[in-house]
Amino acid sequence: MSSHKIKLYNPGPINVSDKTYEAMAEPMIGHRGKEFQSLYADCQPLLQAFFETKNPVFLSTSSAWGVMEGTIRNLVGKKVLNCCCGAFSDKWLDVSLRCGKEAEALTSEWGQPIDPAALDAKLATGEFDTVTLVHSETSTGVLSNLEEIAAVLNKYPDVCSVVDTVSSFSTVPTPVDALGIDVMLTGSQKALALPPGLAIFTCSDRAFARAKHQKDRGYYFDFLEFKKNHEKDMTPSTPCISLIYGLRAKLREIEAEGIQNRYKRHAKLNAKVHAWVEKHGYDFFAPEGYRSKALTCVANNKDTDIPNLIKLLRENHSLIIDGGYGKVKGKTFRISNMGDETEETMDSVLNALDDSLAKL
Ligand SMILES: *Cc1c(COP(=O)(O)O)cnc(C)c1O
Repeated sequence: MSSHKIKLYNPGPINVSDKTYEAMAEPMIGHRGKEFQSLYADCQPLLQAFFETKNPVFLSTSSAWGVMEGTIRNLVGKKVLNCCCGAFSDKWLDVSLRCGKEAEALTSEWGQPIDPAALDAKLATGEFDTVTLVHSETSTGVLSNLEEIAAVLNKYPDVCSVVDTVSSFSTVPTPVDALGIDVMLTGSQKALALPPGLAIFTCSDRAFARAKHQKDRGYYFDFLEFKKNHEKDMTPSTPCISLIYGLRAKLREIEAEGIQNRYKRHAKLNAKVHAWVEKHGYDFFAPEGYRSKALTCVANNKDTDIPNLIKLLRENHSLIIDGGYGKVKGKTFRISNMGDETEETMDSVLNALDDSLAKL
């Protein structure tokens, strides 16, 4: 079905397997009936296992930003601290302000992780009731250290923590309960290798308690509506049922692969890309020890003609990589290894890069 299409090695949306498309082609069902309830219920234990949480895991028919905006509206009463170190984490500040909230940025330079000591100093002011953090900053390839950050957050029990794992979920462990994260969210189109349109998030008792006192939660992303419907294995409004069929199939695949094996596979494929980067004398945009396992953000220290490289990859090899996001466009390029990729598929991407670089 997808064999003649362009293969996607930009970090999202990524390649979707024929198996997933087939799972999504199940005939339509009503969302208030037993069949949907059992589909929803089937997903729950697997999602809870992969998030390592006893909290409910909700399915939102929206892209991740919907839930991100919803999180701000459900949780922020006083003031939110947005940890900013790239395009996606910077956008959290913008969204907070557009929701009419008091918000402040804790900024690290693009390419650097969030500094736990700086976070601690900010929270010690007592000004904040919510913190947002992007785990894997997809624009820079930086993976912040969740353990270090959570150790700081757990010193402030009145502060709700929100972690965006859109490009890290299922590539590295994201243990919600052990870390004490209140809201963790991800999206379907990154490492889960599903089409876009479904966001997935966990919600703690502390988050529900906070939401109860928020007057402007709206309806579509009201956490308490999600909770009420969840108790009946349902969603507040008509969900993207086809995507949820795809999700169930994908969760079963992950279960069969083994979540630990999935993490290992991502580490191995990511290391393969890293070896290629080093062999060609490129630098990494993210510092050692803080690099995403889902993608590699390569610093263009060799002044390679990235737009032409991308053109050659597309024309001769039917694949695309990314030429840098926002203000690091042209200064970086990004190669995704997340989802269903294998040693074989990543080898063919790296060989295609070699071939195209030679033709520049
Ligand atoms: C892709 C991405 C998003 C955006 O998600 P949408 O599905 O477009 O709303 C948010 N955060 C991170 C870290 C991402 O990689």
